[in-house]
This record gives sequence, structure tokens and C-alpha cells, in this order.
Amino acid sequence: MTNNPEPDRTSDVLVIGGGLSGMTAAYTLTQAGLTVTVLEAKDRVGGRTHSDATVPGGPLDLGGMFIGATHHRSRALGEALGLTAVAARPEGQMSYRVNGDVVRAPDGGYPATFGSTDGIDRKLTAAYAKFDDLAEQVGADAPWNSPIAKELDAVTVATWLEANVEDPLVRAIMTTDLNIIVGADTTEMSMLFWAQYVAKCEGMHALQVTAQDALWLGGSQQISQRIAELPGVTVLTEWPVHSVVYSDGEVTAISPRGQVTAPAAIIAMPPSAAATLVFSPVLPHPRRQLQSRAPMGRETKVQVRYARPFWRDAGLSGEIFDLDLGYLALDVTRPGDEQATIVAFIGGRDYDQWSSLADNERRIRILASLEAVIGAEAREAVGYFETDWPTLPYTLGAPVTVMPPGLLSTVGSALTDPVGPIRFAGTEAAAMWTGYMEGAVQAGEAAASSILSDLVPAAVASV
Ligand SMILES: Cc1cc2nc3c(=O)[nH]c(=O)nc-3n(C[C@H](O)[C@H](O)[C@H](O)COP(=O)(O)OP(=O)(O)OC[C@H]3O[C@@H](n4cnc5c(N)ncnc54)[C@H](O)[C@@H]3O)c2cc1C
Repeated sequence: MTNNPEPDRTSDVLVIGGGLSGMTAAYTLTQAGLTVTVLEAKDRVGGRTHSDATVPGGPLDLGGMFIGATHHRSRALGEALGLTAVAARPEGQMSYRVNGDVVRAPDGGYPATFGSTDGIDRKLTAAYAKFDDLAEQVGADAPWNSPIAKELDAVTVATWLEANVEDPLVRAIMTTDLNIIVGADTTEMSMLFWAQYVAKCEGMHALQVTAQDALWLGGSQQISQRIAELPGVTVLTEWPVHSVVYSDGEVTAISPRGQVTAPAAIIAMPPSAAATLVFSPVLPHPRRQLQSRAPMGRETKVQVRYARPFWRDAGLSGEIFDLDLGYLALDVTRPGDEQATIVAFIGGRDYDQWSSLADNERRIRILASLEAVIGAEAREAVGYFETDWPTLPYTLGAPVTVMPPGLLSTVGSALTDPVGPIRFAGTEAAAMWTGYMEGAVQAGEAAASSILSDLVPAAVASV
């Protein structure tokens, strides 16, 4: 059923999905002189970036927030649109909690001792270096071509850890770390997928430390919002596409709101969201496999507001790795905020536990943990916010897509392989920094460039 049965042919290119990647593609195409219609299911652009400026105490980023030190593309885009980035990660000691014991570590580092276990820092450094070695071997470009691709894609990360990391505490820390980074358990994830993820994100140190380098004043969703206001960009929100009909030189997107046609289209969403669309003709086998077998991770974001960043008085950075509850927390207070903010990420296996708790119990547990780690004032929260991404429509999880064994080595190239007049974007399609805003921007730019180089002469001639 449509309420607009006549195809509307108004733009040079359709972008399906108004997240950061789709909006970046729209930006790149309009900068080149084309017109773009963005079709977005939600009532807002930004997708996995969502900033709430109405919260007392200062804006909150409910989704993607940190800019990495080497995230040059997304930083340049935000700055070109007039945004200001400010430093994140205040200086101070990091805190770890394991079996109720709290230990401190250098900024962004590992503790030397936990209870009776010595040399934890040395063992963690050595074990994470093994991930870096594998990442270097498989590379970021075409990991499925690596000589060890099949071997790594035959095992989960959990199986690989059992065989390669002796100390159970070290394995436990690494397991929780990965659950937080991608929102899925090590038992669910292919070792090849993880190795290429590390390669695309410039290694473990970058993932654990420098990826959290800066924040946008006012929040990261503003990038998409500002692009939506530019000439040449038309955004149709609350426009959930359910079908895509394509042939050479023409793509029609159909939703309950109507249908629009253009000479080319970019699908800018995670594979699992693209799987909800009916394509006619059906997509090639590798792309269908990718879409049906690669789920989004699951992660919740908890933000606790305080009258002031009291932990800094004790020389603490506010960064916490809590193995007991399974979260990573950071101080994300920005200049100009009237209140201080600690953000905590709980993902994968620990998200499963967390989401089975009653509302009040979740709050009690996290405040009790913060009290144990950063001091008694942690009880005096002035604000408490949870963003439970897996419950939100159209995104279907957080923060990124993960792959089980056997997928990346067989259908990996389908992440970006074009299909007729269709190109694929979204952070999952990124050459570098997949899973991050940087990857969303890179993939959006790449899909737009591909349209400009391969399809534009035909596209422009026919409009
Ligand atoms: C909790 C959380 C924390 C994160 N933290 C960070 C961080 O600190 N730093 C960082 O760099 N990255 C972070 N990320 C990741 C980052 O936010 C994402 O990589 C990036 O925003 C993805 O953008 P995208 O455009 O590729 O996908 P999305 O933002 O998912 O965009 C896809 C769009 O498609 C739309 N859509 C889906 N189905 C349909 C349909 N049928 N019809 C029309 N539209 C549809 C969706 O509504 C969505 O707007 C985080 C993500 C989350 C969720």
C-alpha cells in the first residue's frame, strides 16, 4: 500500500538511511553539484548518533560520541560544518574493579597486580600484542585473501583465547573488553572478523585509548543535522523504506509513505537493517548471505550526572574498567557543561545480564560500583540516563555489526561490491575505522565517489 503511487523523480541520487554515513554521502554528492533525496525511517537524521540538547546540565550524546586522534575525515567534516571538537579523557589514574577489589593504573594503562595475581600489565600487553600481530597478518583491505583467513574464520575469539592466552584472569579481562568494544561475546565472533576489525582500527592501543580522543561540543548528531539543511539535500523522515526495485540506471524506493525514483542509490545502513528491505530483483547471493548472517551487537549506554567531577580531586580520570558488572566508563564532561558526566558502556554477554535486571536494580548496581571505585559522592547522582539501543527501532542494536565464523572469509567483499545502480555505505562498509563515526564518513564518501565516477554521466544525462 502506498499513498503516493506515482514514482517521484526529483533527485540525481537516493540515499536510503539518514545516519552519518548516508548524510556524508549526500554531502559529498551535493558538493559535486548533484541533488540527493535521503530517505530515513526515524523522525530524525543521525542514526547511531543522537544528541539530546534538552537535558539539564549540558547536551548528552546518546550514541556515538568520541572522535579518535586519527579520525581525520570525520573531524574535517564536522569542522567544515562549523562544529568545535574539545579534548576528552581528562588526565588522572584509571581504575579497575575485579572481584570487588579496586586497583589503579596509569592513564589508559593496565594495573600491575590484582589480588594474588602479579604481572597482569605485562601479561595483558603480551596477549593484546597477539591480536595486533594477527591484525597485521590479515590486513584491513581484503582479509579474506590472507593465507590464514580460513583458519581464523573457522574459530571464535573465545576458542582462540583458550588456546593462546594462558591466564584465566587475563582472558576474562580481554573478553569483557571485546564485549564492550563490539557489543558481542567472544563466543559469537569469528577470529578473522576480530583480527580485521583491529587492523581497520589501527591496533589495540588505538581502540583502547586514542579512539577516545575528543568530543564535539553540542554533540555528534549535529553533523547530520547540518548536512540536512544544505541546498541540494532533501530529507524525508519517518519514511521507512520496505522495498527497492532496481534495473540499469534506475532505482525505486518504496515505503508506506510513497515511492521515489532516481538513477542511482546508496544503501547506508548496517547489513541487518538492509536485510529488512525487499529487493527486486533479489540481491546477489553473497550480499544476501552477508545481510542475513551478520547481526548488530547489543549495547546499552548509561550516563550518570553529578554536580561536579569530584573524582578528579583524588587524581582519578574517571575511566573505569569494572570486570564485575562488565562495563567501561569514562568522564565525558565538556567545557561549558553545568554538570559532570560519567558514561558507562555495557555490551554483549554483560548486556544480557544487565537487561534482565529491574530498572531500579540496574541503577542501584551501577551507583554502588561507582561508589566503590571513585568515592562516596558517587551516590549523589543528579541525573541518570539509559539508552538501550537494542530496543530502538531501525537500528536493531549497537554499536556495530559482528560476524560469526565462516562469513567474512566467504562473502566479505559483498560489504562494498556494487549491485547495478546501487552502492553500499554505512560504517560496516568502511575501509578504515569500521564501527566508528570515522568509518561511517569514509564509507559515505567512498560510495558517493563511486557514483560520481561510475554512474554520474548516465545519471546526469537522464535527469
Ligand atoms: C551506543 C553507541 C556508542 C558509540 N560510540 C561511538 C564513539 O564513541 N565513537 C565513534 O566514532 N562511534 C561510536 N559509535 C558508532 C557510531 O555511532 C556509528 O559507527 C555510526 O554512527 C554509524 O553510522 P551509519 O550511518 O553507518 O549507520 P546508522 O547510524 O545506523 O544509520 C543507518 C540509518 O538507516 C536508517 N534506517 C534503517 N532502516 C531503514 C529503512 N527501512 N528505511 C529508511 N531508513 C532506515 C536508520 O534509522 C539510521 O538512521 C557508537 C554507537 C553506539 C550505538
